[in-house]
Amino acid sequence: MNLTKINKSKYFSWVQCDKKLYFDLNLEKKYRNIRPSNKQQLLNYTFEFFDRKYKNLYPKLTNKKDIISSIKSCNTFYSLDFKLENEKLSLHYDAMLFENNIIKLFIVKPAIYPKKNYIKELNLQKYLLNNFFDNEIRSHLILINKDYRFNEELPDLDQYLNIVECTEKVESLNSNEIELNISQINKTILSNKLPNTKIGSHCKSPYQCDYFDNCRTKLPDFHVEQIPNQSKDLKQNLLALNITDIKKLPDMEYFTSLQKRIIKSVKNSKEFISDELGNIMNSFKYPLFFLDFETIISPYKIFPNTKPFEPIPCMWSLHSEKQFGVQIQGMYENKIYYDRYYKFTGEDPRREFIEKLIVSVGSSGSIFIYSDFEIRILKKIAIMFPEYKHKIDLIINRCVDLLKITKKHYYHPKFKGSFSLKSVSKILTKENMYDLEFVNSGDDASRVLIDLITNKINSGQRKQIELDLLKYAEKDTLNLVDLYKHLKSVSEFM
Ligand code: SF4
Repeated sequence: MNLTKINKSKYFSWVQCDKKLYFDLNLEKKYRNIRPSNKQQLLNYTFEFFDRKYKNLYPKLTNKKDIISSIKSCNTFYSLDFKLENEKLSLHYDAMLFENNIIKLFIVKPAIYPKKNYIKELNLQKYLLNNFFDNEIRSHLILINKDYRFNEELPDLDQYLNIVECTEKVESLNSNEIELNISQINKTILSNKLPNTKIGSHCKSPYQCDYFDNCRTKLPDFHVEQIPNQSKDLKQNLLALNITDIKKLPDMEYFTSLQKRIIKSVKNSKEFISDELGNIMNSFKYPLFFLDFETIISPYKIFPNTKPFEPIPCMWSLHSEKQFGVQIQGMYENKIYYDRYYKFTGEDPRREFIEKLIVSVGSSGSIFIYSDFEIRILKKIAIMFPEYKHKIDLIINRCVDLLKITKKHYYHPKFKGSFSLKSVSKILTKENMYDLEFVNSGDDASRVLIDLITNKINSGQRKQIELDLLKYAEKDTLNLVDLYKHLKSVSEFM
């Protein structure tokens, strides 16, 4: 295999896992789950910010030769979106400022807080610069100010961008490690053999690996990785045991009660049902509601009077079960109804969202949700529309978190350690499986919602994507109905 220069993507792919780099180089793209990047808009803002600030002061350089010669001759300049390379590395730089003989380096990240891997990226960029120059280098991240409030206008970049100096953090990292990494990466590329690296916590850190599912096709059905909330110690103990199958685990002290329950359930191939579940499931008041919100989260302005990364509620889905008629042999005949709200037109949906919800859930009956997400969103809406605070508080008081109940009182081996609604739905009816073309997770829903609202979807696909999104939201609450029925029915046999 021909050696090409190592770029950022190859370098950090290998740093996460050598097998990941092997797959990047050898597997077709269709096997990857590529995360869409949302950096371009922030890059554009950064370029605008630098141009506005420095255009009349310093020359703007784009060419490697000019950059090198200007630094060597101590000539001030700024530079945006350029590439620097030596015989081993080839890196893109977002922004650089050279003044007072100091190189100021900037990496743009659509995020609020500096993360470890961003600092490592700055260190790699600094390492390459050190190959050319002896100058002092100061490293910065260009992030987003979480408290910035969007208004009708374009963002005020002086307030919106949050430039964080990270020189000290970068200096604390070891640059010798980069040299070693580069030589190991070259070995991995040259050997072109599938590394024998096992799955582990690195598969999710710093990002969930693109080949996460790919590497798990031949594992035992109940792999120890499925034991949730593993502490560092527990991970090490499991590694030392060299046992991958939960069914083969010896009894161990250091599991939490939830972990013990899961292991026992898997070993006995039997559900766990707590003694209290029956009473709990009989304590709810009709009509029963099953509620789920879809929100969008964006670093950029979608609607005025919002903040970056603030979840903006745009859709709700509501199933309800009502008793009606007379009791027949002690049972009422129940009926399921469906209601929903959505607005894809690009107008701010928040007021209508809450007004319609207040009407739809009425004034009595338990409202099932899955996690406290809906409550957190309702509290934010109450701050935004204080005139509805009282009604929203009444809704919140009726909310019942079915996730909390499930976690504490029920487990099925098919959950495989996960209590996400998607995992839990595996034991429910087949028709509710998540198998849509465009939307199969909350993240998909949020991304697609943003694209619909900001009109980024072509008219040919728009109808199908809208339908998928509506179906996805409906499935979520239908799964809640089924989960409720399942918990009620299993608890009746206790
Ligand atoms: S899933 Fe894990 S083991 Fe497999 S390539 Fe990715 S990081 Fe490596």
